[in-house]
Amino acid sequence: MFDKKYKQIVILSGKGGTGKTTVATALSEIAEDKIIIDADVDAANMHLVFDYYINSEYDYYGGKKAEINSDRCSQCGICESVCRFDAIKDFKVNRTSCEGCGFCFRICPDSAISFYESKSGVYSECELEDQSKFYFAQLLAGEGNSGKLVSEIKKKANGQAKGKVNWIIVDGPPGIGCPVNASLSGADFVVIVTEPTQSGLHDLKRLINLLKIFKIPSSVIVNKFDINIEMSKSIEEYLKPEGISVLAKIPFDKQFIKAIQNSKSIIEYDHTYGKRFKIIWDDIQKIILN
Ligand code: SF4
Ligand code: SF4
Repeated sequence: MFDKKYKQIVILSGKGGTGKTTVATALSEIAEDKIIIDADVDAANMHLVFDYYINSEYDYYGGKKAEINSDRCSQCGICESVCRFDAIKDFKVNRTSCEGCGFCFRICPDSAISFYESKSGVYSECELEDQSKFYFAQLLAGEGNSGKLVSEIKKKANGQAKGKVNWIIVDGPPGIGCPVNASLSGADFVVIVTEPTQSGLHDLKRLINLLKIFKIPSSVIVNKFDINIEMSKSIEEYLKPEGISVLAKIPFDKQFIKAIQNSKSIIEYDHTYGKRFKIIWDDIQKIILN
């Protein structure tokens, strides 16, 4: 293997439900000397499949919130009238609706509003059976700013990786929004999981355009390729001139659904997939290391 300078692989998909996490989990189980990050912080689910124990938990502060001190408030009503997010009613701030703009705090004539850093969730540093580190996060209900949380969890994991592992494997968020951008920071390679549908191809193109901006190489896995062979061909035809290879075409298989229902990785649930994902993992290594 190469020296202990790790490479970072991010698994992405244009939308949720394409099999991204199934692929990310399978590759994570096969890779050795790795750290795993579930960066799909709005719908983290790798922890439902892995056996792990939590080493440390960290609070995540995603932004500020307003709070009214009733002892000081003269009930003038100004704050309620200026809040664009309708977060203030009857001289109380609804924490979920408050977007943390700070306007009410600045405008209150009685200095009755405090503006405080608010806990938006927690993220955990865990250890798997093979002693690999695994990170995942849980946002509190109604909390946003998931891009910032992705950055925070990645920073923590990267700090652990230096000189210790060869790989960081990131299960990225779906789509092309802010959390995806955050998940791509420091990425060496992206595996895109797609489906042979019109919308799958559309989402794939958007993702590849995004990766061009970041100048990150990628390969594609077409999941359930046999539900629409024609569309699978269209995907391959689109990828060729882009210089992007198809790592694998995986047929539709109910075993994938059953594995999820049983909270197991596809490799654990159906051992025949061990060999298949080992080949995919070997190919990824060849592409990255050559
Ligand atoms: S602006 Fe200040 S004083 Fe007026 S209602 Fe709001 S909190 Fe109370
Ligand atoms: S901080 Fe902004 S969003 Fe929150 S209650 Fe005040 S004005 Fe509304």
